[in-house]
Amino acid sequence: MIKRNIGFSNLTAGYLFPEVARRRREYLSAHPDAKIISLGIGNTTEPLPQYIAKAMSDYSLGLATKEGYSGYGDEQGLTQLRERIAEVFYPGIISGDEVFISDGAKCDIARIQTLFGRKVKVAVQDPSYPVYVDGSVIAGAAGKNTGSGYKGITYMPCTPENNFFPDISKIKKNSLIYFCSPNNPTGAVSTKEDLKKLVDFANANGCIIIFDAAYREFIRDENLPKSIFEIEGSRTCSIEINSFSKPAGFTGVRLGWSIVPKELKFADGSSVHKDWNRVMTTLFNGASNVAQAGGLACLDKEGLAAMKGVIDYYLENARLIQHTFEGENFKKMNAQVYFTGNSPYIWVKFPGKKSWEVFDSILDKCRVVTTPGSGFGPAGESFIRISAFGHKEDVEEACKRLADFSL
Ligand SMILES: *Cc1c(COP(=O)(O)O)cnc(C)c1O
Repeated sequence: MIKRNIGFSNLTAGYLFPEVARRRREYLSAHPDAKIISLGIGNTTEPLPQYIAKAMSDYSLGLATKEGYSGYGDEQGLTQLRERIAEVFYPGIISGDEVFISDGAKCDIARIQTLFGRKVKVAVQDPSYPVYVDGSVIAGAAGKNTGSGYKGITYMPCTPENNFFPDISKIKKNSLIYFCSPNNPTGAVSTKEDLKKLVDFANANGCIIIFDAAYREFIRDENLPKSIFEIEGSRTCSIEINSFSKPAGFTGVRLGWSIVPKELKFADGSSVHKDWNRVMTTLFNGASNVAQAGGLACLDKEGLAAMKGVIDYYLENARLIQHTFEGENFKKMNAQVYFTGNSPYIWVKFPGKKSWEVFDSILDKCRVVTTPGSGFGPAGESFIRISAFGHKEDVEEACKRLADFSL
């Protein structure tokens, strides 16, 4: 018989969100009439702006005509969209042929591991978006879980004590470094000075940074960098992953992009851009043309304004949640609230408590679903993440219930 991919046998425990869903179901079966509000999973809730939906609808109807029909497109994406992304998000620093359009950021994170194979060393922020670690384990780039993390992965704690920027001196030479800013789950955004340190370290130590900027459009502080490519020296050590999911509500539509600069090289001097082009043309067959029509609409004047409106809505929810967790009842629990105003996540520490304990208590007493911080890595223990993705009236109701919560 065929042997199981060892990566799968190395994977431990369930993925975080299925466990959250299981506890929610369990609560519901005991309290069938409970009206549960979910501020857990980072899934968008607000309708697409009409303007953007109409662009996709028009394109779809066009497909039913001789003039409007198209089959396979370029695997790297529509030239017009690649150029528009470069122009809007990376003016003067990235060219259209360095942009690769995809079916989303998570899928790119999975595919990118084929570039580096099983022997690559991996470093991640702790806590972090689970796919960096779980994907590395499945790809065979990490070993067994020792209880404090997987062998072969360097965990870099990001905590209030270090202002959520890790000690990068712990990273081994020639590592792949996953870095997410604004961060999921902590909401922290790294400054230009911090990212410059990271880029200098990567260049000096043969590392490549995989920079996940999925929440860049939530950044409202103009001094904070929205892309790794705003940092000098980044073109020789960085790849950026991004997505229309969070800014445009394309979580179901599916559209993302990656940036691989032409200067980026492997140890033997060969081009990473060339191999990534090969991965995208060989293993991927191009993003949906309907979704790409939607992406183009997102990036003209009207679309950009519409996207900003949706993000403003979520940021307002986030403020409400922040104020609730800063209330007197939470002060009595010594809860510490971290929110910068530049992300949809509020990160709250309950000193001396376990994340799942706080999760269960909030679910039980307030019928509100959050996400336990420990699910994002060992350094997330004692924290919970509250997501601002939700209808305003639900967020208001959740905040009302939380206002007299006690553990
Ligand atoms: C939601 C999320 C993604 C996933 O994006 P898709 O394009 O929907 O696959 C990627 N990175 C982070 C950090 C996310 O939170």
